[in-house]
Amino acid sequence: MKSHARVVVVGGGVMGAGLLYHLAQEGWTDIALIEKGELTSGSTWHAAGQCPHFNGSLNMTKVHVYGTELYPRLEALTGHAVSWHGCGGLRLALTEEEVNWFKYVHGISKLAGYEAHILGPNEIRSYHPFLETFGVKAAFLTVRDGHVAPADITNAMAAGARQLGAEVHRRTRVTDIKRLPSGEWQVITDKGNIICEHVVNSAGSYCDVVGAWTGHSVPIANMLHHYLITEPVEELIALKPELPVVRDPYSHSYLREETNGILVGPYETQTAHVCWNGKPPAWDFESELIAPELDRLTPWLERAAERFPLFAKAGLKNVISGAITHTPDGTYLSGPAPGPRNYWLHCGASIGICQGGGAGKYLAQWMVHGQSEINMREFDPRRFGSWADAEYTARVAVNDYHHMYHCLKPGEQHEVGRDLRKSSLHEKLKAQGAQFSQIFGWERARWYDPSGTGEVFSFKRSNWWGPVREEALAVRERVGLMDLSTFSKFDVRGRDAHAFLERICANRIASRDGGIVLGHLLTPAGFIESEITVTRLAGDHFYVLSAAAAQLHDLDQLHWRLSDQEQVVIEDITDRFGCLVLAGPKSRDVLEACTFADLSNRALPWLTARTTEVAGVQGVRLLRVNYVGELGYELHVPMARMPEVFNALMAAGRTFGITLFGTYAMNSLRMEKAYRGWGSELTSEIDMFEGSMERFIRLDKEDFIGRAASLGHKQRGERIKLVYMSVDAADADVLGNEPVYHGDRLVGLTTSGAFGHAVGQSLAFGYVEPKLARAGERFEILILDRRRPAQIIAEPAYDPSNSRLKG
Ligand SMILES: Cc1cc2nc3c(=O)[nH]c(=O)nc-3n(C[C@H](O)[C@H](O)[C@H](O)COP(=O)(O)OP(=O)(O)OC[C@H]3O[C@@H](n4cnc5c(N)ncnc54)[C@H](O)[C@@H]3O)c2cc1C
Repeated sequence: MKSHARVVVVGGGVMGAGLLYHLAQEGWTDIALIEKGELTSGSTWHAAGQCPHFNGSLNMTKVHVYGTELYPRLEALTGHAVSWHGCGGLRLALTEEEVNWFKYVHGISKLAGYEAHILGPNEIRSYHPFLETFGVKAAFLTVRDGHVAPADITNAMAAGARQLGAEVHRRTRVTDIKRLPSGEWQVITDKGNIICEHVVNSAGSYCDVVGAWTGHSVPIANMLHHYLITEPVEELIALKPELPVVRDPYSHSYLREETNGILVGPYETQTAHVCWNGKPPAWDFESELIAPELDRLTPWLERAAERFPLFAKAGLKNVISGAITHTPDGTYLSGPAPGPRNYWLHCGASIGICQGGGAGKYLAQWMVHGQSEINMREFDPRRFGSWADAEYTARVAVNDYHHMYHCLKPGEQHEVGRDLRKSSLHEKLKAQGAQFSQIFGWERARWYDPSGTGEVFSFKRSNWWGPVREEALAVRERVGLMDLSTFSKFDVRGRDAHAFLERICANRIASRDGGIVLGHLLTPAGFIESEITVTRLAGDHFYVLSAAAAQLHDLDQLHWRLSDQEQVVIEDITDRFGCLVLAGPKSRDVLEACTFADLSNRALPWLTARTTEVAGVQGVRLLRVNYVGELGYELHVPMARMPEVFNALMAAGRTFGITLFGTYAMNSLRMEKAYRGWGSELTSEIDMFEGSMERFIRLDKEDFIGRAASLGHKQRGERIKLVYMSVDAADADVLGNEPVYHGDRLVGLTTSGAFGHAVGQSLAFGYVEPKLARAGERFEILILDRRRPAQIIAEPAYDPSNSRLKG
């Protein structure tokens, strides 16, 4: 074993091998993988090997599609035999909402470039003559996905990496990892140590144990999962070609052919639990099965037999029962762990055979080039904070397993693992009918339900539509109040705070106390990493705000960009302050009744701030800024004192018809103003010019991270261009990731959308070919499988001159 390597990957399952292969492909060959047993001897060896195309997320779909394109070619690429079965798949829908889901995913299939068709119930048997179609409303047919032998692809990828110079050490156990003063990592094994620049935790079921050595809390639970294989069945021996893999919400199972027998894998909906009583597996656990629990499967197997009667008459040959890693949101962890640089997580996969190739490719790009060609936010481990502790993770992972075949509609979330982070107004808002959703552990009101029935989740406009309209119009016509305490909040202080922020932001930082600017942190390659609002409280004190979900991500970005020479202290004060958004033409009147501060345009113009007293509460950071495009304020209030300020504003607002509003209304209002969103319009896939953010990038500044690359991008021209569109929508608005057509040509995709209630118009953002990004240009957007006319509008649909918010 060598003493130094650029990268050490811990774990030789499909995830570790997939990364090793792609690091080598990207040109990093001074790399080593360490595996305590044999390659695949963790979860990988006993997986059923299905590799589906169907997925509700565009980025995840790209991961899946890449795998299904790579695996059939791996033998030719590496010389290692790979058994790939491109039998296709059939996913069944039993409800109208599942059919809507299929329609949405059908749009994603066009963007990701895989062949899919939605079949009516009568068409299904021509693809699968043995399937009973009772209760089925539709099927989603995927033509070119299938299943693969997990050991084949893992060994092939490891072999391919070795051919390029990577080392693979089998039967070598990593026993500890330490961070050295140099910033490198020391990987300690039972066969010697390696010092490396980057270490990757790809330790499968052990990833939380391995993470704990360096103080990283890794939110995974090991779930016990089974599948059964029958003896060969006469009807299938005779059948050619192979049947497609079926995914059936009635039996909550996958059902497919396996060596002329039938393979059935149920995801039980009530009885699942974590393995080994929640403890990690023993270090010598290797290529073993866990004792099966067939009783808990029985009801689902009976249903599987109703769906696929051949299964009932076949003799049982094999039961496979083993551990699958699950994260609370069912998506694997791939990216930097929070904290010191170059500790990467690449684990937590529950569909890892399918995902191992693509996950490895995109993480390798991120490690080698500083960013990946796809948006990695949904894989980034920093989407979970310390609130995702072991108890939360186990509870939610079990629930996620139970919902494996459940269609989660827009807005729908797990009901367990809730109420982790709450603002001090939570109970008050709940009493007003707040419908909460969870964001980075916080509970945040989506809308207020006056009927008390709760949200009917749907891909279409639903029972929230009317109340959200009232909330949005109240903000436009009178005054609205919103609890937006979920903001991530940082104090940046010190002698060099101003120079530091100038160096990391594309925009110019305010030169006067009280000034507010919108700033973007760019990658060195000039793409959008973060969006922050910077308020200068004093020459050496700045208040930095960013998205709730970006708390750990942006804290890392701030720390990682700080040089040793700069005297700056960065403090995460997210939990210390709550935030109330008071907005609407009457907001000044309401606030004036609660503070002695001068709120006139002269004293507190748009985009300025001051620290003041409101409703008897000192130290309120009052920012004249908002995301809804009205005269309005953000009041950043010490969290414990929020109720006093809230009560005073509500009391003063009563005569003006003050109304509580939530994030659904905020989304509608920001769409009317054409305000972009971080994570949807603004991602690390695009530059400032493509995102039409020219007015926030100051290329005339001496220097900032990403400036040189941005100059290059300006010269190169845009590859795609953000456009703002009105949409002739019917009963469903744009959600994001719908295809955009120009005539018959696919020319782009949407990023987000909403109905603008004040302008009476459905609105959407999207990226299209630059030559089509002209005001008035007409397109069609595929919304739930129907093409809806859309047209580029040149200006914000509401108040393009900004007269309202400056009023
Ligand atoms: C019954 C069943 C059916 C499944 N079916 C499918 C399917 O059809 N499709 C699909 O996509 N997925 C399926 N899966 C899931 C799939 O198996 C996993 O998602 C995938 O194998 C995870 O790969 P991994 O590399 O993260 O973990 P693993 O394969 O567990 O690899 C981790 C490796 O790290 C090694 N390791 C851990 N700690 C150390 C250490 N300290 N030092 C050295 N080495 C260490 C372990 O020995 C292990 O080999 C199934 C799983 C099960 C159990």
